[in-house]
Amino acid sequence: MRTYALGVVPAPPRLLGSLHDVITVRDDLSFLSGYHSPQVDVSVRLNTNESPLPPPPGFVEELSKRVAGVAWNRYPDRMADQLRQAIAGRHEVSPDQIFVANGSNEVLQTVLLAYAGHGRRVACFEPGYQMHAQISRVVGADVVTFERGPDFALDPTRVAEFLADAQPSIVFLTSPNNPTGRSEPKEMIDIICASCDCLLVVDEAYAEFGRWSALDEVADNRPVVVTRTFSKTWSMAAARLGYLVGPRAVVDSLWRTVLPYHLDAVTQLAGILALEYVDEMAHRVAAIVDERERVGLQIAELGLEVVPSDANFLLFSSGGRDASAVWSALVDRQVLVRDCSGWPGLSGWLRVTIGTSAENDVFLNALKEIVNE
Ligand SMILES: *Cc1c(COP(=O)(O)O)cnc(C)c1O
Repeated sequence: MRTYALGVVPAPPRLLGSLHDVITVRDDLSFLSGYHSPQVDVSVRLNTNESPLPPPPGFVEELSKRVAGVAWNRYPDRMADQLRQAIAGRHEVSPDQIFVANGSNEVLQTVLLAYAGHGRRVACFEPGYQMHAQISRVVGADVVTFERGPDFALDPTRVAEFLADAQPSIVFLTSPNNPTGRSEPKEMIDIICASCDCLLVVDEAYAEFGRWSALDEVADNRPVVVTRTFSKTWSMAAARLGYLVGPRAVVDSLWRTVLPYHLDAVTQLAGILALEYVDEMAHRVAAIVDERERVGLQIAELGLEVVPSDANFLLFSSGGRDASAVWSALVDRQVLVRDCSGWPGLSGWLRVTIGTSAENDVFLNALKEIVNE
């Protein structure tokens, strides 16, 4: 500690040659490049798996009315009681089995802060959702990865051996998986839980498109949690809202870990309102599934490989062309997709989000031109 004798003028602030001389980012973070899909200004954006459609008619007007009633000088409901009740009602569970946060990414971060961190291990399956590994590293955990086999499938025996050996504190299973779009076999839940003493996080960002849910596997005596998001199916990516369903003890530890009043009042209201439009949501999902099948067939007709998808996107091959060049050629034609070719195990692959029929047609025509060039 510095003390100043009376009458002594403190030294002027040091002039720094470079900020680096004084502060450096944590060594274990400096290699992180961040996870950011480039936001390029084009007319057809099919790169981040959002819904191509706005929320249903009347939603924004009704939300505006409810927002007008917010007590702006007060902190929001800290435990988001009404929102948790609405979510619990939808899944027929108890509100104390629900945790909510700003997007499922913040849900995942809170899980990792509580159950991973320095000296603990997190297991991810590659190719998979990049944020699982990224947030794990940010909280200081070690990431161990398991490479999928042919057709991006998980071999149960090899997975069991891998987990028994790695003994992670957390295992991420994404179903349907991003970026491959495939649903995992439900048996993977038992296999993973039997292989190690871990918390299994089943990331169900695309559950409404999927074939099964792990929600019925959630119980107070099982280390399984399910995470969901309003960003994709619910046409609410702008609001940042996600949630977790899990054992009460886990949910309780998450509330103790997250910052107080982390979820603002407007987001809470938006989530409550969205859940009043379940039929409209299911309708949007059905329309996107129809479009997905149409787009998938047409990509295949161009002679490119397409992975069968249970989500709102398709992973397709560049057919021997440089995938980044295909990505650029699409951008030149006003279409933005995701170039996955730099991700582990995905060299030569791109991912396209299913848009409106008109957007999908622009994409398909552009891809056709590129392939026939
Ligand atoms: C999009 C996505 C999320 C959603 O993140 P939010 O923070 O809720 O927008 C989570 N997991 C996976 C696998 C995703 O693809």
